[in-house]
Amino acid sequence: MLFSFTVESEKRNQIIDITKKVNEIVKQSKVKEGICVVYVPHATAGILINENWDPNVMLDILDMLEKIIPRGVWRHDKVDGNGDAHIKAALVGPSETIIIREGRLLLGRWQDIMLADFDGPRRRTVYVEIISK
Ligand code: ZN
Repeated sequence: MLFSFTVESEKRNQIIDITKKVNEIVKQSKVKEGICVVYVPHATAGILINENWDPNVMLDILDMLEKIIPRGVWRHDKVDGNGDAHIKAALVGPSETIIIREGRLLLGRWQDIMLADFDGPRRRTVYVEIISK
């Protein structure tokens, strides 16, 4: 079962919590046991799962990526100036897979699902595929 929704980023580099939306989709699917794939069809955005309590963790991840992947020094910058965004997205990856048990995502207490935009602000599409066992 394929679902999708859009997310609007407001900054060039931003991590946005999308767990609530994915939870709604899992509920809507009525699947009790299975797998949930969260995927972005973009070359400069990614999906990650991490800390949901302290927002500084996401800012630390963005700072780390800024430090190791500076802007404006890549071959691809000659094309459209976003070489760093492509590299960051490649490291984060375009998807995550989460187990569904008893109708709920099997996320840990401190885990949430995040969309990472590295070339915002813009509208991003998120696909959610729910596969029943
Ligand atoms: Zn590009």
